[in-house]
Amino acid sequence: MAEPHWSRQLIFTLAGNPAVTRFVTRYGMRLGASRFVAGEDLPSALQVARQLNDEGFPLAVQFLGEHVTRAEAAAEAVEEYLRLLSALEEHGIDAYISIKPSQMGLEVDEELAYANCRRILERTAAAGRFVRIEMEDSPYTEKTLRLYRRLREHFGTQDVGIVLQAYLYRSAEDLEALADLQPNIRFVKGAYNEPASVAYPDKAEVDRNYRQLVQRHLERGHYAAIATHDDRLMEDLLGFIEARGIPRDRFEFQMLYGIRPQLQRQMRDRGYRMRVYIPYGRDWYGYFVRRLAERPANVGFVLRNLIRG
Ligand SMILES: Cc1cc2nc3c(=O)[nH]c(=O)nc-3n(C[C@H](O)[C@H](O)[C@H](O)COP(=O)(O)OP(=O)(O)OC[C@H]3O[C@@H](n4cnc5c(N)ncnc54)[C@H](O)[C@@H]3O)c2cc1C
Repeated sequence: MAEPHWSRQLIFTLAGNPAVTRFVTRYGMRLGASRFVAGEDLPSALQVARQLNDEGFPLAVQFLGEHVTRAEAAAEAVEEYLRLLSALEEHGIDAYISIKPSQMGLEVDEELAYANCRRILERTAAAGRFVRIEMEDSPYTEKTLRLYRRLREHFGTQDVGIVLQAYLYRSAEDLEALADLQPNIRFVKGAYNEPASVAYPDKAEVDRNYRQLVQRHLERGHYAAIATHDDRLMEDLLGFIEARGIPRDRFEFQMLYGIRPQLQRQMRDRGYRMRVYIPYGRDWYGYFVRRLAERPANVGFVLRNLIRG
């Protein structure tokens, strides 16, 4: 059954309250954020990465951070990504890098975000590593697509990819507009608190759109990262993939660290490429709130941890 809409809304509303932010930022790792975050620093993330690689999971690694308002903060994030890249190379870890445009300074200035992404991509592309530009809330969709298109003037489809969110009405058109680039796209349902003017409020509509977007993309022979924990949706898409004889090297599944690990193992054991997304860093608040809002029942374990002390 669908989670009641208000509870998702309530979590986002509460999360915006400064007192709640202060409390959760102080105690959140103990209260449950550590279930979703691979650690607050690079060494902890590398440890988790090594273990997951050893278990047969390739990874997408994100250094947590978003909505930076100063160019210096964006520059620090770039430096961290370059350190991350060196560490992945040094430790021979099978991972690509996932970046939020607002962490690169998209809110400050589009040119700044472009220059920062380009600095990272010069290094990752030379090392043969892929970078995924993520999709954030809808005020940034257009700018993010522009950023991606501009990066593609210098880098290939094997160097940089993008994300489309099935909850947005516009995504079907965006998919068409992107097709000339033969893009590598991660498909997600969408994690932000969007109004009905831009996003389907009804979960069944989001799922229907998700199926259609992925099918259209795969039919064209373009690479799809199917990022969802929805096993029914995955099976529907696998039915389509098998019926069309789409080879396994044209798609992969992706799931978040700490969410449905048993399903992750099942997909791996069935021989699919199953990539796990691991975020790390101290700026985990926004990420944690979105994980709670996706499944309001998660608030229960936070409260239980709080009561246990
Ligand atoms: C690899 C990856 C990258 C992503 N990148 C982006 C991005 O760039 N932009 C963006 O907007 N969103 C992103 N998302 C998040 C995505 O938009 C969804 O919010 C999230 O995946 C939950 O939706 P679902 O597809 O799993 O389906 P749902 O229908 O929400 O969930 C299906 C089932 O999965 C389980 N589940 C889902 N979420 C949780 C949770 N938080 N805790 C516990 N169980 C849960 C439940 O059993 C649920 O019934 C990403 C997701 C993944 C997996």
